[in-house]
Amino acid sequence: MKLHEYQAKELLARYGVPVPGGRVARTPEEAEAVARDLGGKVVVKAQAHTGGRGKGGGVKLAGSPEEAKQAASEIIGMQLVTHQTGPQGLPVDSVLVEEQVDIDRELYLSVAIDNASGMPIVIASAAGGMEIEEVAESTPEQIHRQAVDPTTGFMPYQARALAFATGLDGDLMRPATALMAALVKAFEESDGTIAEVNPLAVTKDGRLLAADAKFSIDDNADFRHKDLMELRDTSQEEEREVEAHAAGIQNYVKLDGNIGCLVNGAGLAMATMDAIKFEGGQPANFLDIGTANNPEAVVAALKIIGSDPDVEAVLVNIFGGLARTDIIAEGVVQAKRQGLIDQPTVVRLAGTNVEEGARILDESGIELVRADGFAEAARKAVEAAG
Ligand code: GDP
Ligand code: MN
Repeated sequence: MKLHEYQAKELLARYGVPVPGGRVARTPEEAEAVARDLGGKVVVKAQAHTGGRGKGGGVKLAGSPEEAKQAASEIIGMQLVTHQTGPQGLPVDSVLVEEQVDIDRELYLSVAIDNASGMPIVIASAAGGMEIEEVAESTPEQIHRQAVDPTTGFMPYQARALAFATGLDGDLMRPATALMAALVKAFEESDGTIAEVNPLAVTKDGRLLAADAKFSIDDNADFRHKDLMELRDTSQEEEREVEAHAAGIQNYVKLDGNIGCLVNGAGLAMATMDAIKFEGGQPANFLDIGTANNPEAVVAALKIIGSDPDVEAVLVNIFGGLARTDIIAEGVVQAKRQGLIDQPTVVRLAGTNVEEGARILDESGIELVRADGFAEAARKAVEAAG
C-alpha cells in the first residue's frame, strides 16, 4: 500500500526525519490559509501515488497566499499524468502546501528490500532530484549501497560511509547519519517495502530536509498496522484490484492483455501467463485465487475478470491440491448462470475431485471450451480471444 507524500512525511517526522513545515489542503481556500500560516512563499504539490509530479505539472511554486490558492485551484481536480501513471493519469483531490526551501543541493536517499540478498538496503546518491533508475543508467558510480543485516541492524559506520560518499561531511555528518537511522527505523517498524526521500535537500542555510517522500507498506503485514492501513486511498488504486482486495482475493494484478485468468497458486498463475504468451496471446490479469474452497470466492473472482472491458476470453486453469476442482466447477457454473462472464471460457481442471468437477461442468449445459492439457488450454484461450 502506498502512502501519499503528506502521510509519508507525517510518519517520517514522528521518527525524527526533518521535513519542511506544511499541511494538506483539499480546497483552494484551505491552501490559501495554509500558505498564509507559512508566511506566503510556498510549494503546492499534488497528492497522487506517482513520482514525476514536477514534470507533469503537479508541483508549483507560489510567492503569496493568493498564488497558492490559484495553484491549488489548477491542481485539485486534475487528472495527473506522469511517465509512471499511463495516459489515463491519477485523480488529485488534495495538495500538500509547504514552506519553500532554498535548496543548495539535491541528494537521493532510500531504503528498499533487496530481493537478491533478502535484506533491506540503504541507497544514497549525491545525484538527487532525478530518478534513481536514470542515475543507475548514466552514472552508476554515483550510487552507494549498504545492506542492513537484520541481526545487527543498520550500523553507525554504514551511515557514515554513505554520508561521506555523498558529500555529507563536516557539520552535515551528524544530522545526515541521524536522518538515515530514522529512515531505516521507520521502514523496519512499518514493514516498508520502499521509503524514498528524493530530493533530500541541503538548504542554503546548511540544513538537511526531506523535500519529497514516498513510502509503501507491505500489504502482507496489514494486520500489524491497522492505523497505517486507515491511510489507504483507494481512489489511487486500480478499481478491480480494490474490488479483489475487498473480496478477500489478495493476489490480483491488472495487466494489459485480453485473456482473463483464474488460477490457483502463484506458481501456476505465472506458468499460465507464460503459456498464454508462448501461444501468442496476452494475459489481462494475474489472479491467484488460492485454496478457494467455496464457490462464492470463485464467483467473486470471475465477476472481477468478467467485468473488465479488456477481457475477450477467460481461462480457468486449476490444479486441485487442497483446492477442490468440483468447487471451482460449481463457481464457474454459477458465474455463467448469473451472467457475470459472457466471454468465451476455457476450463482446464486437474487434481482433486476432477471427475466430479467434470461432471458438474457437463451436466450444467453451459457452453464452455474444455481442455485437458495445459498447453491445449492456453492455445484454446488464445484462439477464443481472437
Ligand atoms: P516528484 O516530481 O513527484 O518527485 O516531486 P518532488 O517533490 O520531488 O518535486 C520535484 C522538484 O520540485 C524537486 O526535485 C525540486 O527540485 C522542486 N521542489 C520541490 N519542493 C521545493 C522547494 O521547497 N523549493 C525549491 N526550490 N524547489 C522545490
Ligand atoms: Mn521527488
